[in-house]
Amino acid sequence: MSQTLKAVRGTRDLLPPETALWNRIESTARSVFARYNFGEIRTPVFEDTALFARSVGEETDIVSKEMYTWEDRARAQSEKTQTLTLRPENTAGVVRAYIEHKLGETGQLQKLYYIGPQFRRERPQKGRYRQFSQIGAEVIGPPSAGSESPLRDAEVLEMLATLLDELGIKGWTLELNSVGSAADRERYNQTLREALIPLAPKMCVDCRRRAVTNPLRVLDCKVPEDQPIIETLPRIYDSLDEASKAHFAAVTATLDAAGVPYTRNHRLVRGLDYYTRTTFEFTHGGLGAQNALLGGGRYDGLSEAIGGPRAPGIGFAMGEDRLVLTLLAQELNQKSAPPQVDAYIAPLGESLNSAALALARELRHTGLYIELGEGSFRLKKSFEAADKTARSIVILGEDELQSGILTVKTFATGVQTKVPRAELAAFLAEPLKG
Ligand code: ATP
Ligand code: MG
Repeated sequence: MSQTLKAVRGTRDLLPPETALWNRIESTARSVFARYNFGEIRTPVFEDTALFARSVGEETDIVSKEMYTWEDRARAQSEKTQTLTLRPENTAGVVRAYIEHKLGETGQLQKLYYIGPQFRRERPQKGRYRQFSQIGAEVIGPPSAGSESPLRDAEVLEMLATLLDELGIKGWTLELNSVGSAADRERYNQTLREALIPLAPKMCVDCRRRAVTNPLRVLDCKVPEDQPIIETLPRIYDSLDEASKAHFAAVTATLDAAGVPYTRNHRLVRGLDYYTRTTFEFTHGGLGAQNALLGGGRYDGLSEAIGGPRAPGIGFAMGEDRLVLTLLAQELNQKSAPPQVDAYIAPLGESLNSAALALARELRHTGLYIELGEGSFRLKKSFEAADKTARSIVILGEDELQSGILTVKTFATGVQTKVPRAELAAFLAEPLKG
């Protein structure tokens, strides 16, 4: 006997009607992005492993333990055996594409968005999966195109506030911080490393390791006992140089002028090595432990880190799975349910099946939502099926076919009406008739 096969741990099937909500989220995102003049980019789902090692960073959780990586054996002499990785995030792929297609040479800011699956071998739990979907965007370009301007940061944050509002997400919080330039970060890392020497032995195993390998990560620690210790650590803001402080001040002033609310979070340093200056998260209380709806920040040195020209940028990635969870919890899913089927066509006997398909085709071409029944069903079974799926049932028997007068029952009113075939589409399109 063969074993039952199931979706792999950390992956799942999305089924209707929930997929209607996914589609609504994606179409709202596309419409907001279009209004801000972003275009869509689609990069491959797998890339050379070196891309993530060099951009996300060797010491990060993602690269050190969460990636799905394999040796892709050469199939011909002309090919090399390569180490490939399922993308754990999409910014690296977008910046690689920016470099590969010399988009910087246009001299214009590139404003690109993506929607698609990402893969990380994490411990699956609510809001955390091994295959999950991100909706993200990047604004990147040569400095001459204004890519370093704090206006770009503020516009991206304002766009996100607009998008979350249009999605109907209630009660989000924008948490904002600055991690400064690469030099500021290096300085702060040193300060933290020293501050942690006497403290690390009292902290969790992860923090003891991070205190040496990547002190910034200590700020992400969620272990309750470590929290009071972390609160005493020096703040990154005090390690920023004047230019980084001025950049941050301009971002917050622009947000204030636009009326976008935010809170400062001194511990927000984010889990990827490439961030510089502005970092942010939008959180939601309803999500529990996995409370980040999205994260992002500025990455002024990323392009150069993977062999490209200077191309400062800022971007974000939203966890689409978490948007869905939040909206479902708000019971807004009702709104996104697919339009109820207008009519169920019930052929009376198998000999009427083909006439029923012809009628369904005629009605569907007018834009109506039609469910096609089955002639072998008894009338009672057709009525039961119709009542579950559609607003009305259209009976198609031999008499109806000959006379061209159809019988329609509207379930909401219980009224049965005789409708000439030529008027049927108009009748069904008017929900309250009958
Ligand atoms: P977290 O702190 O929740 O692990 P992160 O800092 O790893 O998030 P990013 O890499 O910045 O997150 O990804 C951006 C967003 O993608 C997150 O805010 C979250 O909404 C979503 N996300 C990240 N990892 C997962 C996952 N394993 N499953 C579902 N969504 C995820
Ligand atoms: Mg994570």
